[in-house]
Amino acid sequence: MSRFIVACDVDSTLINEEVIDLLAAAADSHTQVAALTERAMRGEMDFAEALAQRVATLRGTPARVIDDIVGAVSLTNGARQLVHSVHAAGGFIIAVSGGFREILDPIAAQLGLDAWVANGLEIMDGAFSGRTYGPVIDAAAKANFLTAYAKKKRIPLSDTIAVGDGANDLAMMNIAGLSVGFCAKPDVRQAADVNIDVRDLSLVASLFGRRAS
Ligand SMILES: [Mg+2]
Repeated sequence: MSRFIVACDVDSTLINEEVIDLLAAAADSHTQVAALTERAMRGEMDFAEALAQRVATLRGTPARVIDDIVGAVSLTNGARQLVHSVHAAGGFIIAVSGGFREILDPIAAQLGLDAWVANGLEIMDGAFSGRTYGPVIDAAAKANFLTAYAKKKRIPLSDTIAVGDGANDLAMMNIAGLSVGFCAKPDVRQAADVNIDVRDLSLVASLFGRRAS
């Protein structure tokens, strides 16, 4: 394929951390957040509800913790190399995140990503309000963002690669030409066309041009 798109999940894929856990640690709500994450993973809550309840625990925490969190986030091995490889091959690389743009924006800009989307973390009077703003980026929104970006670039979905690790990535993985599970949870592993089980994103470059069989 000549022009193509790589769409990457963020938490535990493009970066090694789960940003909600870092935020919860800063807000001293990690016990509550862990319990909510657990319930969401058992399917007792949908993503939007789990997101709303986890973000509610951040209420009142000074927004300046964002800078510490941006500093604490580590890029997954091979992330920079992958961005370079995609661009060198004439492709585009985008990030689709169920996390937060306040943390993703500086990271994505610095990495040189072509586009990205995430939830907004509302700040009022210098502190988290406990709410998000803008559309909720759930599994369907991730898939829609990839579809819209591909349309804008006039690239068929068959020339896209979606990389992710969690249930929230399944919808975009399902519509992409090739789906890549990256150190993925069992159900994602099962659904993926290809699995990468070492934390090295540069390995995705070996899949350019490959289609699901
Ligand atoms: Mg993830």
